[in-house]
Amino acid sequence: EASPRRFKRAILKLSGEALREPGSTDNISPEIVERIAREVRDALAPGDLQLGIVVGGGNFWRGAAASARGMDRATADYMGMLATVMNSLAIQGSLEHHGVSCVVQSAIEMKNVADTFIRRKAERHLDQGRVVIFAAGTGSPFFSTDTTAALRASEMGADVVFKATMVDGVYDSDPKKNPSAKRYARVNFHECISQQLKVMDSTAFSLCMDNHIPIVVFDLAPGGNVTRALRGEPIGTVVSS
Ligand code: UDP
Repeated sequence: EASPRRFKRAILKLSGEALREPGSTDNISPEIVERIAREVRDALAPGDLQLGIVVGGGNFWRGAAASARGMDRATADYMGMLATVMNSLAIQGSLEHHGVSCVVQSAIEMKNVADTFIRRKAERHLDQGRVVIFAAGTGSPFFSTDTTAALRASEMGADVVFKATMVDGVYDSDPKKNPSAKRYARVNFHECISQQLKVMDSTAFSLCMDNHIPIVVFDLAPGGNVTRALRGEPIGTVVSS
């Protein structure tokens, strides 16, 4: 196998759903958040990686789903963005508990609970070794937190997006429907388009493709995976140019 790939600046996208214990009615599992924080701490211990985190809100609320049931889409999306703020605060608290200094920057101004997103300040925090948690998505409805991750990665000049999710990579067909579905170790953006492989929504995908930012898709659940991914060990599927 190839030796670990070194990244200088990365964005880690955590799905909101992954913060929920399967089968539990609690939207956030403090234990899961705490495990993620420990793994991030371990990954950052060598001190050579700058990290931004984007977390979704699907464990609380998804705008599109509420809109399909009759709610106004923009309002539902703003609610979804607020959900990401709760998840971001949970992650911040846990990271700090583990001695990782971090800030939450919210794309929707919320002075009492978080800093406001300011690109140059975010970059400075990263340069100074602080983790920046980008809360409230892009601040605009009709986007997703995958798109937020792609956007922040682009404007921060990150060299990779890690998408930590509930599946362990990108498959040539749906592994739930086709038992012989094959997982890719590597696949390029154009293959994803021509074979209609779903990695991220199309807006997020295009941003990464246009800005030549590889996406590493991996399963958040197995212990140690976050650390392995951030350290550049081969894991999941790498989508690149
Ligand atoms: N959202 C939004 N704009 C953004 C990011 C998120 O409107 O820039 C809303 C949208 O309603 C979305 C919800 O926030 O459904 C939660 O985010 P997402 O679905 O991406 O979370 P995940 O699936 O990663 O948990």
